[in-house]
Amino acid sequence: MDATDEVIDICRDLLRIDTTNTGDLDTSAGERVAAEYVAEKLAEVGLQPEIVESEPGRASVLARFEGADPSRDALLIHGHLDVVPADASEWSVHPFAGELKDGYLWGRGAVDMKDFDAMVLALVRQMKREGRKPPRDVVLAFVADEEAGSTYGAQHLVEHHREHFDGVTEAIGEVGGFSVSVGGDQRLYLIETAQKGIDWLRLHAKGRPGHGSMINDDNAVTALAEAVARVGRHRFPVVLTPTVRAFLEQVSQVLGIELDVDDPEVAVSKIGPIAMIIGATLRNTANPTRLAAGYKDNVIPGRASATIDCRTLPGQSELFEEELRRIVGPDIELEYIHRQPALETTFDGDLVAAMSAALRAEDPGAVPVPYMLSGGTDAKQFARLGIRCFGFSPVRLPADLNFGALFHGIDERIPVEGLQFGVRVLDRFLQQS
Ligand SMILES: [Zn+2]
Repeated sequence: MDATDEVIDICRDLLRIDTTNTGDLDTSAGERVAAEYVAEKLAEVGLQPEIVESEPGRASVLARFEGADPSRDALLIHGHLDVVPADASEWSVHPFAGELKDGYLWGRGAVDMKDFDAMVLALVRQMKREGRKPPRDVVLAFVADEEAGSTYGAQHLVEHHREHFDGVTEAIGEVGGFSVSVGGDQRLYLIETAQKGIDWLRLHAKGRPGHGSMINDDNAVTALAEAVARVGRHRFPVVLTPTVRAFLEQVSQVLGIELDVDDPEVAVSKIGPIAMIIGATLRNTANPTRLAAGYKDNVIPGRASATIDCRTLPGQSELFEEELRRIVGPDIELEYIHRQPALETTFDGDLVAAMSAALRAEDPGAVPVPYMLSGGTDAKQFARLGIRCFGFSPVRLPADLNFGALFHGIDERIPVEGLQFGVRVLDRFLQQS
């Protein structure tokens, strides 16, 4: 079977394995089933996959596909097998039925990211059947737990199984390589070369506890609420990193508009729904997400806390912290509860050339552009090994599909033609990599 046919079957099979990751260890049974499925697909064609468990059931699969020149540095291709939860009552199809309808495969994980897992599996199987080797070693990693912070997946592999990544210098993984239609017959293909950093912070306010009926001018809840509102309303200044600047320059050129670097939001507003992601990469952001205070309606508590989900641009985390401290004021204590650095690499070199050429060969209207993801992926973990990470999971999308909204969204689905396009692009890419 040709890879462009088999990719549909494999994607469908994967969608039917419920790999919901709630973050609770007791509820992640599906990851092991998916890992065994993947391992079997790899072993069938003669690869030697290894299933690695960080905790019972938290399974990842590793395999090395030997290249024509094993002395060269290796390429890592990584995808996660877990998905975020889906509430079937909100969907128009069952989220774990793997339905094929209206030219789409529907299901939780269809774009995040069983589509890419299936593309890689189908392509590797075809290459093995045909006796084709990649030019250099390719390390394949299908991992657990991306959706709850990577602890039991990529982080575990990087910390305890790093020998599998010997010689790996570059990687491709999720959230990049998808098309964005900008009118005419040109399509931007957003290749991820950067990610914002993740700083989850807790704000703590202290005050004088007491009875809710009495005068209290030192109320922790009031102090916290004021600080949270200031943070939530604050607009951090625009800082264009090389990735975002290159993106905006290219987009402006394609759109035929003048880029105003002092007001880049004009250019961003012209790119459709994807502006929700791109707009967030123009500046640091801080969104309040949780509040915690009190234990009784008529008791003023002595403490109150809030969580702020902060996303920082490369090189900005210290400046950001200074600014945040100014905003919340001296009486609020800041505590980091989760911290992962931003990533940024350049949009150049042989690998970028291979991605761009593969896209152009399959879509003559392709304009490959670098972009920064406002969120984070397993690339944060693999980058700790000194690996240069790209988001490149190529898919050509219909102009009217709001792709960004499908990530963790209702009625997540992937166009079958897009999947097949992705296999062909990956095939060309791998040959040149
Ligand atoms: Zn993902």
